[in-house]
Amino acid sequence: MGDCIFCKIAKGSIPSKTIYEDSHFRVFMDVNPATDGHCLIIPKEHFDNIYDLDAETAGKLFSLATCIARAMRDALGCGGINVVQNNGEIAGQTVKHFHLHLIPRYENDGQYLLWKPHESDPDKLEELRKKIKKSI
Ligand code: AMP
Ligand code: ZN
Repeated sequence: MGDCIFCKIAKGSIPSKTIYEDSHFRVFMDVNPATDGHCLIIPKEHFDNIYDLDAETAGKLFSLATCIARAMRDALGCGGINVVQNNGEIAGQTVKHFHLHLIPRYENDGQYLLWKPHESDPDKLEELRKKIKKSI
């Protein structure tokens, strides 16, 4: 994974504005933040995306996210936090090293991070439910 920018950040071979680090994870400021205080959590080991992440790392990472989110809430006084995680180019993933975005939200911050819901067809919903359930 010689070319992966987040592997380099994980190792400390390129600088980052780190707020937390341990042997498995690094948490640092997003260089092009959506809002003030936007942080990223990465595992130090390279995983391309959510499909590759092992259960133990995923569990520890989300546990760390709860701790960082509380720290951000207390330090920044934000009204809320969006937890965002993109997988695949079509979903907006630009860096192919798993990362979790913690994006603080403020009144009138000019961001729109929610999806546009649409009415569902009950038959289609049931068909999709069965398809996904079968695949678990
Ligand atoms: P994504 O679009 O989900 O892949 O998010 C990648 C994020 O990484 C973007 O929000 C970028 O601003 C951020 N990013 C890219 N390079 C760096 C870097 N060197 N330091 C900090 N954040 C970065
Ligand atoms: Zn990497």
